[in-house]
Amino acid sequence: MTLHGTDREPAGTEGADGPSALFSALVDDAGLYPPALLPMSAALARHYADEDADSPVLSHRFLCPASRLDELRAMLSRPVKVGLILDTPAYPDLGRLAGLTDVDVDLVEVALPAGTTLDALVGRLRPDVSTARLFVEVPPTAPHDVPDGVGLKVRCGGQTPGLFPSTHELGTFIRGCVERNTPFKATAGLHHAVRHADPSMGVYKHGFLNLVLAVCAAIDGRDPARALELMDRRELVARARSVPPETARRARELLVSYGSCNTHTPIDDLHRLGLAERHRRAPRAAKEEIVTSSWVPGADTSPYTIAHLPYGVFSRPGEPPRAGARIGDHVLDLAPVLHDEVFTSGTLNDFLARGRTAWRDTRRRIQRLLSAGAREASANRAATEPHLIPLDQVRMHLPVEIGDYVDFYASLEHATNLGRMFRPDAEPLTPNWRHLPVGYHGRSGTVVVSGTPVTRPRGQRLPGPGQAPVLGPSRKLDIEAELGFVVGAGTRLGDSAGAFDDHVFGVALVNDWSARDIQSWEYVPLGPFLGKSFATSMSAWITPLEALEAARVPGRAQDPEPLDYLRRREPWGLDLTLEVRLNGEPISAPPYREMYWTPDQMLAHMTVNGAVLRTGDLFASGTVSGAEPSQRGSLIEISWNGTETIRLADGRDRTFLEDGDTVTITASAPGPDGSRIVLGEVTGTILPSPA
Ligand code: MN
Repeated sequence: MTLHGTDREPAGTEGADGPSALFSALVDDAGLYPPALLPMSAALARHYADEDADSPVLSHRFLCPASRLDELRAMLSRPVKVGLILDTPAYPDLGRLAGLTDVDVDLVEVALPAGTTLDALVGRLRPDVSTARLFVEVPPTAPHDVPDGVGLKVRCGGQTPGLFPSTHELGTFIRGCVERNTPFKATAGLHHAVRHADPSMGVYKHGFLNLVLAVCAAIDGRDPARALELMDRRELVARARSVPPETARRARELLVSYGSCNTHTPIDDLHRLGLAERHRRAPRAAKEEIVTSSWVPGADTSPYTIAHLPYGVFSRPGEPPRAGARIGDHVLDLAPVLHDEVFTSGTLNDFLARGRTAWRDTRRRIQRLLSAGAREASANRAATEPHLIPLDQVRMHLPVEIGDYVDFYASLEHATNLGRMFRPDAEPLTPNWRHLPVGYHGRSGTVVVSGTPVTRPRGQRLPGPGQAPVLGPSRKLDIEAELGFVVGAGTRLGDSAGAFDDHVFGVALVNDWSARDIQSWEYVPLGPFLGKSFATSMSAWITPLEALEAARVPGRAQDPEPLDYLRRREPWGLDLTLEVRLNGEPISAPPYREMYWTPDQMLAHMTVNGAVLRTGDLFASGTVSGAEPSQRGSLIEISWNGTETIRLADGRDRTFLEDGDTVTITASAPGPDGSRIVLGEVTGTILPSPA
């Protein structure tokens, strides 16, 4: 049997010895299919990026429904290899496929319709798909004799629990294919290498490594179901390493490939297991693609230039919230200009879940549409300008549905100052502080968007030393000026996070409002609780990491050197300068670049125990305080726990916040070519406690 139509030999060639032969060209790109369901443009952009990165694990075959082949062809900028999935009873004119030059259809997949025999279906389709291989999807339960040159397709999972075959069923199918020498493809549910429980669906999901090893087991006369059941990673890795080359070659002749809507997870999984190289990054965009000037009036001289483009969620009166990008004093309505329904959902979560390649592609497309220098600028302007809405006509909403909220304590100066005040007789820094980024889990349900009023919280506090606690409104209501990090792509339970910019989408300013009198009484021994959970404000605009490229710095020197998992692999310190204004008056300018722990270290620490990371999670830096009194990011530091007053321009004094006070935090950072980027502000006004 030959595997015509593939330009990568599946196994055993090009010196591909060892486990890599098992995974060569294993994964077909199913980005159009659930759960990813990428729009065609995003799926194709990711596919091109994957091709440029050229991972040997990918087949570089793009799975496309026959009903959408013309849509795909209209968007191609270079030819692609296609696996065509016949999704309508009225199949298109398959005979024409051989004549197409922009798509190379090298296999065709079709489900076996009820009441049709396999022979009848093959007899009907085969003449038309003579240049491609035909794979017929059958239930995994019974082995099938198939005509020579035709393969089978087996479903390994899906959107409902009933679509997951048991290890016994799948094992029986595999044994049947091995015995009959029938090549097969797999589809659905195989995102991860190793079999694992999915509690949200109430099923065990099959692993593609299990599947490959099950085929090897069947070839060697062992029970494939047993290999499908294995969940011990070390044993699976050891087995993969010990497959004889002849068995590997034979296994991949039979298991042609499987479709995955996520092309990065399989590679990342194999990398973590030490079985493959990680997916190499696509090359950066060429210099001439970096745009610096926009046709949007006023944008080039505003802090919201085309090099910034933060994302938010907005609404006009009477209309549902949807996603936009800010340019100058306008918000660009993204759904109609990008023809993408993901931006109509009312939060950015679904967009964030698409991952880094989609984020980058979307940003490039927006920049191209808004660029003054693009060749098609006047046409872009004509199409895009109707969807620019002045900011004063919109209301901003919380941009993401927050998953988990974690707050760190990453400023050496803040931790030292607070330690001195709360524990005057002890070392200001606790023994753990220089060894790990200290943090706690906050309350995500009370994360509110900038502009939301904050009601003075009530709680237990001590009226004085040695006195009994009373319940009442906080008298030491404070702010914490922080930088928040919004998670786009999550992790699987049990895994630690990979590269920082593969997971974190962007940054937003955060005010972690704090009731110091409640906090100081309640926090021992389990940490912050009601003194923090009444409100946390975040800016309405999320600045993508890509916009902060010019602001990246190595991060402050650390002594002692942290453990290896906390080692900085790339510079993720950020040269951001915050500004805190109280009733409009600047009272502090905290420097974020001086923070002791950088956000990549926080991410590594937060996931080192296997805790899951989800789209929409928010983690914040902790109060940003510098060494100078003018750089402190909280009132408890500025007023030294109420012992020193702040004199405002109107002649009034402050230690902590009064009812009616408004606190606004902004920040700026270097942008490209000497420009500045100004982050979306976070502001809030204190309302009196209810009686
Ligand atoms: Mn905090």
